[in-house]
This record gives sequence, C-alpha cells and structure tokens, in this order.
Amino acid sequence: MALARRKPTRAVRVGALTIGGGAPIAVQSMAATRTQDIEATVRQVELLEAAGADLIRIAVDSAKDVEALAEVRARTRDIGRAALSVDLQENYRLAATVAPHVDKIRYNPGHLYHHERDKSVHDKVAFIAEIAERFDVALRVGVNCGSVDPEKTAKFGADDVGAMVESALEHARILDDLGFHRYVVSLKDSDWRKVVEGNRRFVAARPDVPLHLGVTEAGMPPDGIIKTRIAFEQLLSEGIGDTIRVSLTVPFEDKGQEIAAGREIIADIEAGRFRSVPANFGEGLNIISCPSCSRVENEAFIELARDVKTMAQYAKDYAVTIAIMGCRVNGPGETDDADIGLWCGPLGVNLKRGDTVIGHFPYDAVLAQTHALLDTVIAERGLAKA
Ligand code: SF4
Repeated sequence: MALARRKPTRAVRVGALTIGGGAPIAVQSMAATRTQDIEATVRQVELLEAAGADLIRIAVDSAKDVEALAEVRARTRDIGRAALSVDLQENYRLAATVAPHVDKIRYNPGHLYHHERDKSVHDKVAFIAEIAERFDVALRVGVNCGSVDPEKTAKFGADDVGAMVESALEHARILDDLGFHRYVVSLKDSDWRKVVEGNRRFVAARPDVPLHLGVTEAGMPPDGIIKTRIAFEQLLSEGIGDTIRVSLTVPFEDKGQEIAAGREIIADIEAGRFRSVPANFGEGLNIISCPSCSRVENEAFIELARDVKTMAQYAKDYAVTIAIMGCRVNGPGETDDADIGLWCGPLGVNLKRGDTVIGHFPYDAVLAQTHALLDTVIAERGLAKA
C-alpha cells in the first residue's frame, strides 16, 4: 500500500483541518466564479462542500473582492467542515484584510517579487507571516514554474525546475527564520514531469515541509485527470504529498469533479491500482487549459476550450502545444511557452504564436483563426507525426 510509506512531515493546522503530520491526504478545489458574484460563489462553496472538499480556495484581487469574501464566509461558515483559503495575487497587502475571514492564505513568490519593487522580498514575507500569526492563519508558498522571479530564472537558465525549487526553498528558509512554521509548499507546472521532478528535488532538501500537489492548467477531462494522475501516482507512491488539487476545465456546476477525481486517484493508489502509461503518452498534440477561477473574463472560455480541443483532433499526432487561459492576469504569461496560445478577455480572445500576438478576435471568430494557425505551425515547422 503505497500511501502507508508517506514521508513524515510537520503537521500544519488549517482551521479544523490538519495537513501533514500523517493526517489523511486533504483534497481541495477552488471556486471558479467571480468572487464579487456572491450568490454564485456561495453556490460554488456549497457545491464543493457537498462533493466532499476538505479545503476550498477563493481568489481575491481587490478590496471589493475582500468585502465579497467576508459575506461568502459569513453565509457558508456553518454549512460544512471545509476550511477556507484565499489566493493572493500581486497585492500581498490584502493579506491584512483577508486574514480575519479565512483559515489559510496562499502567496506566489514570483508575484511577490514584482509588487513594490523598492521593498525586499524578505520584508514582504515578514508582513504576511506577521498577519498570519496574528489572525491564526496558515500559509501556502505556491510556486509556479511559469512565474518564478526573473533573478532565479536568469540564474538557472534552462533548468526552470531548478529555479522553481530554489524559490520554494528560499521562502521556506525565510519563514523558518521568521519563526513561522505553519506553512505548506507547492511546486506546480502544466507539465506533469516537471511537477514530479520539482517535488522530488524539494523533498530531498526539505522532507519536513508538507506539500500540496497539483498539475496546473491540466485541461479538460479525461486528459486533465490523466496528466494529474500520472504525477500523483509517481509522487504519492513515493510517500510525497499531504494535500492535492486536481485542476480541471469544466463548467462551474461540475467543479465537484475535481474532488471526485482526487479521491478516486488516492483510493486507486492506496489499493495499488495504478494505470499503465503508454510510453508515448503526451508526445502528440498537447492541449493545456486553466481550470478557471473568479478571474475568468467570460464564461464562453470553457466552451471555447472544448471547441479548440474538438477542432484540433485532426492534429492529434503532431507535437504541438495549444494553451487556452481564462483571463488577462495569467493568460499572457502562461501562454508564452505554447506553440499556440489563446487568452480570453471580456469580449474577445487574444491569439498568440509563442510569445508573439497574432491578433484579438471575437469569440465566434477565433476558432477558425486558431485552425488556420495550427495548419501554419504544422506546415512551417515541417512537423513529423509523433
Ligand atoms: S488563467 Fe486566469 S482564469 Fe484561469 S485559473 Fe488562472 S487566474 Fe484563473
């Protein structure tokens, strides 16, 4: 039984939930609705709660989002047992107003680097840790391979996993030095291989820190579940991982699928039911799409992601990566490494080839443009079938 060999990590209390320290692996998800749409977000929390979520995350980008969060918390406090977490984007100072309403706060070291450049990263972390201490809140250092700070990217060059691991280790050190130990770390990417390698490298240096596992922008089922399952089978079977999230691009009302998929993967690994992985899995067409969250600019994004997947099936044997993202916050950066990128705005979609913008198209026109671009990429690069 693979999970019986879990590596001993520190126990981190998140509200009534414990992550690490031998506690059962916690399964979490994130509200995909606009946070300020209080009715929709309350429904989303209720839906995830009913699906059996141990922890539910909500994104907060502004003071108005914080006001909405407070109301969502007040209205859902008594419906269930799930702990509540928030995702801070650039504005780390929102931690002060968010903390009274939640059990855990996630910050991204890469985003922290860019905000208030005249202040040291150490001082920003110290601010967040002091807030967390004062309001009895846990933290997650959430590092994404695609948004590591530029100094580490320059230092590690092509070894982007090395940059991600160094960022996670640096922030663990800062928090430890500050005397704040109630934190969890995550090292994520849309490529499951980088997720496996990054987490293994981090554990080699810091086996004591509880880990949150996930493959970002895994995409739509079933591929999104398969990519995530491969990463989790490798890591959980080695005893690595204390909490998990399966990120799926699905309609808001189907978000419970993330919890169901997570529990099924854990149960299968516990029972020794591993799925065989063909040697050429992931070598052909690769479609990555974000799971959507409150920042989605237009719900048509989810249908567009499905349409792109259907349209591109004719190219399934070609090694082309298409990335589809739901907003302007992460869309521009997270599509840079793909051959073809689409990131969605309120009224239209930005189409890119690598990091070059091709144009901005209405939702009903971008599919044909993407099709034409896919033809061009295949023809120009003389791509052979995988
Ligand atoms: S790309 Fe934007 S909409 Fe999609 S999950 Fe990330 S932040 Fe949310």
